[in-house]
Amino acid sequence: MNQSNESGSEKTSDNKRSVTTKILISLVTGAAVGVVCNLAWGKSNVLESIITYGTEPAGRMWLRMLIMIVVPLVFASLALGVARLGNLKKLGRMGVKTFLYFNLVTALSVCIGLAAVNWIRPGEGLPEYIVEGLTERYQGDVEQRMELAEKNVLGINKLVNIVPYNPVRAAADNDMLALIFFSLVFGIAMGVLPPGKSESMMSFLQGLNDTVAAIIDLVMKLAPFGVFCLIFSVTARFGFDLLGKLGWFVITVLGALAFQQFVVYSILVKVFARLSPIVFFKAIKTVMITGFSTSSSSATLPTSIRESEKQLGVPKEVAGFVLPLGATMNMDGTALFEGVTVLFIAQVFDVNLGLGAQFLVLLMAVITSIGVAGVPGGAIPMMALVLGTVGVPGEGIAIVMGVDRLLDMSRTAVNVSGDISAAAFISRSEGYWD
Ligand code: ASP
Repeated sequence: MNQSNESGSEKTSDNKRSVTTKILISLVTGAAVGVVCNLAWGKSNVLESIITYGTEPAGRMWLRMLIMIVVPLVFASLALGVARLGNLKKLGRMGVKTFLYFNLVTALSVCIGLAAVNWIRPGEGLPEYIVEGLTERYQGDVEQRMELAEKNVLGINKLVNIVPYNPVRAAADNDMLALIFFSLVFGIAMGVLPPGKSESMMSFLQGLNDTVAAIIDLVMKLAPFGVFCLIFSVTARFGFDLLGKLGWFVITVLGALAFQQFVVYSILVKVFARLSPIVFFKAIKTVMITGFSTSSSSATLPTSIRESEKQLGVPKEVAGFVLPLGATMNMDGTALFEGVTVLFIAQVFDVNLGLGAQFLVLLMAVITSIGVAGVPGGAIPMMALVLGTVGVPGEGIAIVMGVDRLLDMSRTAVNVSGDISAAAFISRSEGYWD
C-alpha cells in the first residue's frame, strides 16, 4: 500500500512538473511568436483580426475560468480556515500579524521603488513631443478608467461598505472585501457552534472546496493553451517603439520589482519563516508563472492555495485564511509601481515632490493598493487618486499606459509571491512548522 502511495505521489509530482514546464514553454513560445508577428506584420489587419477574434478572446475565456471559481473558493476556504482555527484569540492574533506583515512589507516595497526612481530619475528630460504623442494616443483609455476611479473613491463609505447589506450581492458584484468580511463572520460562527451542529455545514464547505479544487485541476490542464493565447496577444500588439522611449522608466520599475522579488523576499522568508529562499522559490514557481502570465492576483489565487499547501506545506487553515486576504488586499508590486509611476510623472511634468510629498505618496500607495482589484490593469484607476493628492496631473497616466501590461505581469508575480511569504511567516510563527 505504501508502495502504491509512493508511486502515486511520484506520478503526481511528475505530472505537476510537466504542467509547470508546459506553462513555461508556452509562455516563452507565445511571447516569441508574438514578437516575431509584431515585427513582421505589426500593422497588418490580418494579425489584428487574429488577435481580436482568436487569441485574445480565447485567452480571456481561460482567465475567466480561473476567476469564476474565486468567489466559491474564497468563501469556502476562508470560512473553513477560520472555523478550523476554532479559537477566536488565535484568529485575532493571526489577523493582526497578517495585517501588520502585509502593510509593513508593502511600505518597504514602496520605499524600494521610491529609492530607485529618485536615483535613476527616468522622467527627467523626456522630450515634449514624446509626452504629447503618448498622451494623445492613450487619453481615451485613461478617461474610461478614470470613470472607474470615481466609483472607487476612498473614504468613510468604502469602510462602511466592507460590511455587506447582502452577501450574495457582494459576491455577484465581486466586492471581495465585503465577501471576505462575510466569510470571516461565517467561519467564526461555525467555530463557536458545538461540533454536532457545525458538522454538516463544515462537510458541505469541505465538499465545495474539493469540487473547486477539481475545477482548478481541469482549468490548469488548459493553462498551456490559455497562457500562449494571453502572451501572444500582448507581445503581438505591444508597442515596442515605446520601450525605446520609456526605457528608463521600464528599467526602474522592473529593477525595483526584481529587487523586491529576489532580494527582499529571500531575506524575509529566511528571517521570518526560517525557510531557505531556494526552497521557497522552487515551491512557488508555478504561482509566479501563473501570476506573470495572467496579470491577475484573483486568477492566481486557486494556484497559490494549492501550491503553498502541496509544495510548501502551509497548513490548510493558514492558506485558507492568509491567501484570500492577500490576493485581495496585499499588493507589494502594485504599490511599488504606484510609487515609481507617480514620481516618474511628476518628474516629466517638472513637479518637484519633496520628502513630505513623497511620504504622502508612500502612504497613499500602501492604502490604495488594498483597494486595487486583482485583475489586469486593476491599479490604473487607483493611480488617479494618488496623483491627485500630490498635485500631479492625472492625465499623466496616459504616458505609461502603452507599457503597462508588461509591468502589470511583473508586478502581479511580485504580488502573489508576497502573499505566500506572508503565509510562510504565519505558518512558522504560529508554530505549525516546528
Ligand atoms: N494586476 C494586478 C493584480 O492582479 C493589479 C495591478 O497592479 O494592476 O495583482
